[in-house]
Amino acid sequence: MTPNPDVQTSPHADLTAQKEPLSNEPPLKAPLSNEPLFKTLSLGFAALDAGLRRDGSPEDQFPVPGLDLLRGSGFWGAGGDTALTGPQLLRLMRLVGRASLPLGRLFEGHVNALALISAYGTAGQRARTAQEVREGRLFGVWNTEGPDGVQLLGASSDVRSDTSSDPGGLTLQGAKTFASGGLQVTRPLLPVDRQGERQLVLLRADAPESVAREVPGSWQPLGMAATGSVKLDFSGSRVEQDDLIGRPGDYYRQPMFSAGALRFCAVQQGGAERLLDEARAYLHRLGRGHDEVQALRFAGCWTGLQGAALLLAEGERLERACLAGKVSEARLLAQVDAVRLATEDACLALLEASERAVGARGLLEPEPFSRLIRDLRMYLRQPAPDAARLRLGHWVMNDWLLGEWSLDEGSLDESGSEDD
Ligand SMILES: Cc1cc2nc3c(=O)[nH]c(=O)nc-3n(C[C@H](O)[C@H](O)[C@H](O)COP(=O)(O)OP(=O)(O)OC[C@H]3O[C@@H](n4cnc5c(N)ncnc54)[C@H](O)[C@@H]3O)c2cc1C
Repeated sequence: MTPNPDVQTSPHADLTAQKEPLSNEPPLKAPLSNEPLFKTLSLGFAALDAGLRRDGSPEDQFPVPGLDLLRGSGFWGAGGDTALTGPQLLRLMRLVGRASLPLGRLFEGHVNALALISAYGTAGQRARTAQEVREGRLFGVWNTEGPDGVQLLGASSDVRSDTSSDPGGLTLQGAKTFASGGLQVTRPLLPVDRQGERQLVLLRADAPESVAREVPGSWQPLGMAATGSVKLDFSGSRVEQDDLIGRPGDYYRQPMFSAGALRFCAVQQGGAERLLDEARAYLHRLGRGHDEVQALRFAGCWTGLQGAALLLAEGERLERACLAGKVSEARLLAQVDAVRLATEDACLALLEASERAVGARGLLEPEPFSRLIRDLRMYLRQPAPDAARLRLGHWVMNDWLLGEWSLDEGSLDESGSEDD
């Protein structure tokens, strides 16, 4: 099975690619130890949550307070030219997912965009991005589209060598679907079609030369309503040469493109862990915390989530090993597919168990379950899930070697570490 070309995944870049140094701009680096930042962010999320539980909020309300908390957390530049390493980045994604899946999806898009700009942008583009991150701008990556997808028009055969200074020379035509954050995202990164290849365009969405018309009624989802993932039509937007990030085709470069799935899996796992914690607390409030049926139910859920979390941690380690040339790309991509599979299966099993455990009463507002369940169900729908499962199956049948099992002697040493 081949992935549907009309519905493509969000995007991704490696965190450790070699980069030119930035100019003299103040660094975006987080402090050497991020522990105090993580602690402060956790406390901030807990306070936000308490406020929301007290005051309530419409389900489709854009998560401004959560984004503001992240803006002030020291992590707003995560994924870009920061000192945040892979394991810490995934820890951050998991933490945000526990707080709120819509917030996690928006932050994931922001991080994905910064990672792509960091990997493929010029020093000047990265410096400008660093400045815009300091200003608190929200970035995103909008790749998904239907048959009326976005094209870059007026491009010469090599856009980046086209020295024309006429900004009217390049325009966009077409629309994106599932544009998380919609018009709140002032720096969306658009992979667009340029003569059959994918070119990244960093749109200055709040500039007069940009056009982004929301298609009414395009976002009436099962869950994740607060992400405002609308359809936007960009026809008529003018683009400058300096808005083009990287070369045509960079967006799909592997292993970065597929390995970015580790980040959405981390957010989803965080949301699932939250659901498990809430369901357990609810049962305790009902005096059913020691009920044997519920205990049996959640034993499997916890094990599934823990397994997915460990596969994810191993995936991150293999990503670093692959970038260091110590593990093949095929091995890494098989692991990424395994993380996707395990995450989806564990989350779906938990959704089923939670619904059965809390029952109809638990699914009434103001209990959190209906929202948590719908958000997780919706966010789990990622591109071509069955193709990923099938690809993994073929790899297991044809390429996996018995001696390359993750827990075999020597396979868990630090050979994949960036430091050695
Ligand atoms: C809350 C939310 C926010 C999002 N935000 C963004 C965003 O900001 N930017 C962005 O780019 N995207 C975004 N997306 C889109 C996302 O990345 C995926 O593209 C989208 O969710 C995939 O949708 P789908 O389930 O229809 O996938 P599909 O890949 O179409 O899968 C649906 C079904 O179709 C089957 N299928 C797929 N391809 C084929 C085929 N060729 N032949 C036969 N069967 C096939 C699959 O096996 C599966 O059963 C968002 C999605 C959600 C849910």
